[in-house]
Amino acid sequence: MGEHILVLDAGTTSTRAILFAADGTLVRTAQRELTQHYPRPGWVEHDAGEIWDKTLACAREAIGDDGACVAAIGITNQRETVVAWDRTSGEPLARAIVWQDRRTADFCATLKESGQEAEVQARTGLLLDPYFSATKMRWLLDNDEAVRGANERGDLAFGTVESWLVFKLAQGAHVSDASNASRTLLLPLDEGQFDAGLCDLFGVPRSSLPRVVDTHGPLAECSSEWFGRAIPICGLVGDQQSATIGQACLVPGETKATYGTGAFVLTNNGAAIPRSTHRLLGTVLCQTNGQRIYAIEGAAFVAGSLIQWLRDGLGLIASAAETEELARSIPDSGEVLIVPALAGLGAPHWLPEARGVIAGLSFASGRAQLARAALEAMAHQTHDLAAAFAADGAPWSMLRIDGGMAANDWMAQDLADMLGIAVERPDFVETTALGAAFCAAVGAGLYPTLDDAAQAMRGAARCFSPRIDEAARAERLVRWRKALAAV
Ligand code: ADP
Repeated sequence: MGEHILVLDAGTTSTRAILFAADGTLVRTAQRELTQHYPRPGWVEHDAGEIWDKTLACAREAIGDDGACVAAIGITNQRETVVAWDRTSGEPLARAIVWQDRRTADFCATLKESGQEAEVQARTGLLLDPYFSATKMRWLLDNDEAVRGANERGDLAFGTVESWLVFKLAQGAHVSDASNASRTLLLPLDEGQFDAGLCDLFGVPRSSLPRVVDTHGPLAECSSEWFGRAIPICGLVGDQQSATIGQACLVPGETKATYGTGAFVLTNNGAAIPRSTHRLLGTVLCQTNGQRIYAIEGAAFVAGSLIQWLRDGLGLIASAAETEELARSIPDSGEVLIVPALAGLGAPHWLPEARGVIAGLSFASGRAQLARAALEAMAHQTHDLAAAFAADGAPWSMLRIDGGMAANDWMAQDLADMLGIAVERPDFVETTALGAAFCAAVGAGLYPTLDDAAQAMRGAARCFSPRIDEAARAERLVRWRKALAAV
């Protein structure tokens, strides 16, 4: 048996395959872009057949001639996205509804108005928002004839993206791991399987759902048809949980923030079920032998997309990286402050209808001030999340960052300054893929625990220590709160 780990990272904009050696060294990667379908405003769809075809092609490319070396497969994926397929033919019945899709906003509002949210949150750790999977499944049943017909024949299979990929790889296994299942609104945080009462509430037939399995262990077997020999699938984990594991946040209180298009923050909550009173989410971080570790999660909708908007919407910068040099070119933002609510405000505010604000403009305001204010907004948003996590009993002692924006040294330093804690950035920034590699390595028995895998497979990191004084920090937060009140 080989000692390489093949990770399939089925993301939102692209799907990738990454071959790791057992010491965490990257051997080979392959990547394909995914077609984004936007049939109406607020709707986002993927072709599940394309996800499968491109993931398989990437896997074959990454494995190359090393098929015999692969000890195990790990899968990490865009979460909450719903695939509906026919379990007899193995073909998708409709386009997959992507996590960003808002088409079920009215259904969520109706459920909220009927007073369901408190109980749903207590049981699942989630809020009634179109983001999560259950209302997307219900929408497909209500609106797609093929899905409805398959349900009547008893052939309907629903799943999130890892579930779909395992079904294809393992030729018929219908499973979902607990970290992905905990994003559906159908899995109680303290129960092993999807709940009949929650299925009734959202109108999703329990018979269409997968069996919930661990995030690491012997989970399924990839058929020899695909890579010339059968390979065990030993890790399945949603992308944000995977990045948390890849950042080795394996002890309660350890926290990571991923700054990509949006910003996702997760704090390890240990074996205790999170009970947020500050509109944060509770979610399964990982599960082995049925034993769960939980996480508290908060997301800001707009992070790197603000920088993209400065570049593509305003034409203010030529590249995202240019913001760093602009921010460094001035001593402060000249009172310019941006509330990046261009797509609403996420946790802990949850104001989806909010819109952005640029405050404090004067004739002295130019490109540099706007670029700096955009980067400063990341620390302001993260500061609000930190306060909510602390109020929920999960204060951060340091923050591990990743994602495309984390490459910005100025932003990393500003985060440390505004949060007043050390900020650490790993040299190897593919933390999402790395987390799934840890899971698969442990699941295959290469290492006894995730901790051991992290010690063996994780590289060095750079640390940013807080530098600015309390008064400067407080002054910025006052202006942030004032501007926030105006959205
Ligand atoms: P995603 O996985 O959500 O597609 P990535 O993690 O690839 O996103 O991050 C890309 C985002 O990071 C883009 O929105 C881009 O504007 C931003 N970004 C990339 N490099 C920098 C940089 N040096 N400074 C600031 N923002 C950056």
